[in-house]
Amino acid sequence: MTSIYRSLNLVLLGPPGSGKGTQAKVLSEKYQIPHVSTGDMLREEVRNQTSLGIRAKEIMDRGELLPDDVMAAMILKRLDREDCARGVILDGYPRTVEQAQVLDGILAELGRTLERVVLVDVPDEEIVRRLGGRRSCPRCGRVYHVVYNPPKDGKNCDDCGVPLIQRDDDREEVIRERLRQYHEKTAPLVDFYSNRGLLVSVDGSQSMEAVTASIMEAIGSPVGQ
Ligand code: ADP
Ligand code: ADP
Ligand code: ZN
Repeated sequence: MTSIYRSLNLVLLGPPGSGKGTQAKVLSEKYQIPHVSTGDMLREEVRNQTSLGIRAKEIMDRGELLPDDVMAAMILKRLDREDCARGVILDGYPRTVEQAQVLDGILAELGRTLERVVLVDVPDEEIVRRLGGRRSCPRCGRVYHVVYNPPKDGKNCDDCGVPLIQRDDDREEVIRERLRQYHEKTAPLVDFYSNRGLLVSVDGSQSMEAVTASIMEAIGSPVGQ
């Protein structure tokens, strides 16, 4: 934990494939606060074939967003858990202005506030390269890239030894729809948080290590200092 924060509630904002999940995992270790990914939570529902999972799969495979009220219930339940008391790294939530307003309400109710929103900025053409080569472990969810971050043996998860898979929504036409949804529904959050003085922007097209360093520098001191 950085000394200036008693707690750190952080949102990672950015297009699909910008590296939010990759960075959230590293930051979660460094700051010892949980990484909360709504995408991971939904994929777990899909794996467990819950009624939400079955409904979610169809929407996710089209590259569209789940309804805000469904996501609100999910995130409230997660943030209310004890392990989030000292902060959280949110990845994939909020994705709409309405979700951002819900998040404000939930945090206020829990006696917490949002300390920082980090925009991980990556141009669309790089996004397509990243998502096209993304592979993940079906067991632990660890994320790799065929070129930028391959597993040691080129095929199986370094931790679990099981073959990596490609996400169903990382196909070209779905990637295009996800980017469209991002620009239409999620990008307005940049102004939303910027107007509140919470936003810092980092260049997400650098190496993974350089992006981590930029994020830590950006959240290391209060906005405007
Ligand atoms: P990405 O790699 O694009 O950042 P995620 O793993 O965060 O993807 O999300 C995968 C899919 O799950 C999204 O395309 C969307 O269908 C659904 N999803 C995840 N988080 C949300 C959310 N906050 N609101 C609505 N839908 C969501
Ligand atoms: P998001 O959670 O924003 O959808 P991911 O963390 O899953 O993004 O990253 C998308 C893909 O890009 C993955 O294959 C990941 O290994 C790769 N990746 C992430 N950060 C970088 C980086 N800085 N440089 C190159 N590739 C990266
Ligand atoms: Zn694994």
